[in-house]
Amino acid sequence: MKEYLTLAEIQEDLREGGLTCVQLVDHYLQNIESNKHLNAFVEVYADEAKKAALALDQKMASGSSGRLAGLVVGLKDVLSHKGHGLQAGSQILRTYQAPFNATAVQRLLDEDAIVIGRQNCDEFAMGSSNENSSFGPVLNAADTTKVPGGSSGGSAVAVQAGLCHASLGSDTGGSVRQPAAFCGVIGVKPSYGRVSRYGLIAYASSFDCIGPITKSVDDAALILEIMAGADEYDSTVSEKEVPAYSKSTEWNGKAKIGYIRESIESEAISSEIRQQTRETLNRLRAEGHEVTPVEIPLLDSLLPTYYILTTAEASSNLSRFDGVRYGYRSPESVDLESMYKKTRTEGFGEEVRRRILLGTFVLSANYYDAYYTKAQRVRRLVREETNRFFEQFDFLISPVSPTTAFTIGEKTEDPLQMYLADIFTVQANVVGNPAISIPNGEDKDGMPIGIQIMAPYFSEEKMLAFAKYLTGLNKKVAVEYNTNE
Ligand code: GLN
Repeated sequence: MKEYLTLAEIQEDLREGGLTCVQLVDHYLQNIESNKHLNAFVEVYADEAKKAALALDQKMASGSSGRLAGLVVGLKDVLSHKGHGLQAGSQILRTYQAPFNATAVQRLLDEDAIVIGRQNCDEFAMGSSNENSSFGPVLNAADTTKVPGGSSGGSAVAVQAGLCHASLGSDTGGSVRQPAAFCGVIGVKPSYGRVSRYGLIAYASSFDCIGPITKSVDDAALILEIMAGADEYDSTVSEKEVPAYSKSTEWNGKAKIGYIRESIESEAISSEIRQQTRETLNRLRAEGHEVTPVEIPLLDSLLPTYYILTTAEASSNLSRFDGVRYGYRSPESVDLESMYKKTRTEGFGEEVRRRILLGTFVLSANYYDAYYTKAQRVRRLVREETNRFFEQFDFLISPVSPTTAFTIGEKTEDPLQMYLADIFTVQANVVGNPAISIPNGEDKDGMPIGIQIMAPYFSEEKMLAFAKYLTGLNKKVAVEYNTNE
């Protein structure tokens, strides 16, 4: 089967090229089968997807199919899909089945998307490498000794390796964008409040966003357009009308771009990423855009703020997994207290336990003001600083991550090293702005490099248009590495 970059191409072949949805689903099922070693899927819905494809072929013949007909999609294992297992990569949720559809999932189904399975991820979406899953690590298809990024690692690899056409992931601090960058695909974190979180297993509710992972900006725009918008089940979703993102992906005019000076100067960032980022910025300059280095004075405060607030929210969100209401209950328990303790100790993995403890600590009476309240204040300052930045600029461009995909096991012993990998992605979540990760070449080992475009709050339309334009610009040139740098 030919390699499809966009859903539009698939739909054209479905209409005129003799392609059927049944063939499409069979093709992805075969790919999943022959790439089982990547461990991208936790569960595959082969029969159900085939049935849906057959029904859709008939519906298409009668001319009444939805806008996502032909889209075969995978769901990160944190999105509720009625009647299907849902575990957030955790043992504490073994045997749990989703009793309803997440709004984002429902909206895709309403437009005739076919869900082919649920995808492996870091436990409760906590991680940057997909090594924290109770289903084992996911392997990067570009080099199976490397991580795919996290926490939506299975979702990114599934798109990278052609196991489905697109995936839905969740992004609390970079979990859609960073694995997309590590796998050479596209990942979008929408503005906070753009897409309903109803049916998404919560990690840190004031940061969590559902976002698409795709091979083209066009598909990301279409999927986002369909998922976004008011929802009676989530009061944090904006009532603002959703623009037709998929119809406005033409970029015209000159942009004012700021980039973080350190991102192309700091030794902490791999030289190839620095070089590639610099080349891209130069290319934009040559095209007549204004490209200016900027200081982000609160850059150093971003990670502490993120990790204090998200662990605090996680400790509260995850308190519901107690052996009483969901999934697993320790058979060893003898009384109420030992049931809580044993269930949670046995059911949660190490990283989740670490974050619950950290979050409980920063919320404890004696430390609340010193950590939690302070981090809230810094969050507001970062927001103000970011808003000031966007009064002057259209976009903030940076690498997605300081390195390309690292070797499996390389950072597991050192959580701080792992957290540092999130330096460029967390800002968008701390402030709520949209950001996109698009491919920006490869390092000399052939591992994908990503570049991030962050835009003003609720400016997805212009962000997507610019991302598409930059994707086109990047395709025209390949960079030669200057290894003497
Ligand atoms: N890597 C970040 C973390 O571990 C981001 C996770 C996410 O976005 N879900 O918190």
